Amino acid sequence: MSTSDRATTKPRNTTISSASARSKAADTSRRRFLGTGAAVLTTATLGAGGWLGAASRAAAQAAPSAPKARVVVVGGGYGGAIAAKYLKLADPDIRVTLIERSPYYVSCPLSNEVISGERDIDSLTFDYRGLTRRGVAVMQDEIVAVDPEAHYVRGAGGARYNYDKLILAPGVSFDYDPIDGMSEAVAESTIPHAWKAGAQTLLLRRQLQAMPDGGVVAIVAPPNPFRCPPGPYERAAQMALYFKHHKPKAKILILDAKDAFSKQALFQAGWQEHYGDMIEWVPGAAGGIIEAVDPKTRTLTGLVEDFQADVVNLIPHQRAAKLAVDAGLTDAAGWCPVDQQTFASEQAPDIHVIGDAAIAGAMPKSGYAANSQGKVCAAAVAAAINGEPPPAPSYVNTCYSILAHDHGISVAGVYELKDGNIVSVPGAGGLSPVDADARTRAMEVEYAIGWFRNITADMFT
Ligand SMILES: Cc1cc2nc3c(=O)[nH]c(=O)nc-3n(C[C@H](O)[C@H](O)[C@H](O)COP(=O)(O)OP(=O)(O)OC[C@H]3O[C@@H](n4cnc5c(N)ncnc54)[C@H](O)[C@@H]3O)c2cc1C
Repeated sequence: MSTSDRATTKPRNTTISSASARSKAADTSRRRFLGTGAAVLTTATLGAGGWLGAASRAAAQAAPSAPKARVVVVGGGYGGAIAAKYLKLADPDIRVTLIERSPYYVSCPLSNEVISGERDIDSLTFDYRGLTRRGVAVMQDEIVAVDPEAHYVRGAGGARYNYDKLILAPGVSFDYDPIDGMSEAVAESTIPHAWKAGAQTLLLRRQLQAMPDGGVVAIVAPPNPFRCPPGPYERAAQMALYFKHHKPKAKILILDAKDAFSKQALFQAGWQEHYGDMIEWVPGAAGGIIEAVDPKTRTLTGLVEDFQADVVNLIPHQRAAKLAVDAGLTDAAGWCPVDQQTFASEQAPDIHVIGDAAIAGAMPKSGYAANSQGKVCAAAVAAAINGEPPPAPSYVNTCYSILAHDHGISVAGVYELKDGNIVSVPGAGGLSPVDADARTRAMEVEYAIGWFRNITADMFT
């Protein structure tokens, strides 16, 4: 498939465009149901509040029978959408409610291709009708509080959703404090991180387009742990792909808080092969650690020297999403400790945390890892509800990175539970070979696209 084919190809399960989804969101100041035929399914998720309209309440009262148990899933991304679907598949008698703040989901995987202009953001945008069709009650609401004792979560407008088991998959939040001059407002207006796909992804794209040939982009890469360890380095390659054809005198500086990074040898060889000296990586020990940014002048203050750039893409330090922090489910470092077999929180046993927010042993913070954890967690929750022990888990992850039209690389891992910890299975998984031939590199691009199509079909259909 050519790149231009890929740029315009929509995954087959994309049912609404992001533009139409956004206009729908704008119409909606109140939380609401997403999809059709879900009203009956919501009755048991409601507490005393009774916020549905009269017709919906009547439908709700006509609900045929009490569910076996009520499970609420918060967050409809790579972890939560999968947990909700597979829980319903595991036991259709469990009432599963997925609560997501947005009416649509924009995938971070492949969003670096939006920044380079290789792909349209609509091709990464999905709605939740597929999950509704599977019997999951999908609600649009922002959950603002969790009460682990009384077993309910509360929505922004006061709605109360009761649960027997709660699965949280809220992703990450961004910590701007370690870098002077950064804030959410600065990220949204001037220095986009684009580490959550959406408006900032498009802003960064526009900034690259507006940059003069010969300009400098600085990508500031965060310390570990953070979502998508290869992401900043794939982003550098995607930016270089755009510049190679449109602004060949441009320069990309990666200012890194770290001294090593995921798939490093593969990235560095690929950068050199396709882009020569266009990409320069500055490790922490060589002055890559950044302490401050001036959004007006786009000057970065480093520990050793200062850097001046035309475009700054500062990826902030990260921790678990605010909801998990506020609920007291995080440790001192800001991530959620869990039982790594069931993903039950160490702080609250009827709350499970999966995906980026959780501490999951050797697994990286990736969409594929969140998918795998969602399935393990769904099986464990269904077993617990049915009075059975959790099944023996197995976990998997592969992260592809696309460096050029015909150059993909990957890292894969298979994991098992050992002494309560998720560890790599020795001899399983590994990296693309450093000396792979051109055909293998080109095939890995196709595998990356195929992976995306499959995993998003798994989530949303
Ligand atoms: C540039 C980039 C490229 C990437 N590429 C890859 C890749 O190629 N492969 C890969 O496997 N991973 C990749 N990732 C990582 C991947 O995106 C994340 O690891 C994955 O999204 C984590 O899934 P999650 O379910 O934990 O969180 P998310 O997918 O972020 O989902 C969290 C959801 O919870 C919702 N939410 C949060 N709080 C609330 C609340 N209080 N109330 C209601 N809803 C709430 C959010 O709106 C969101 O929809 C990439 C990431 C980036 C930034």
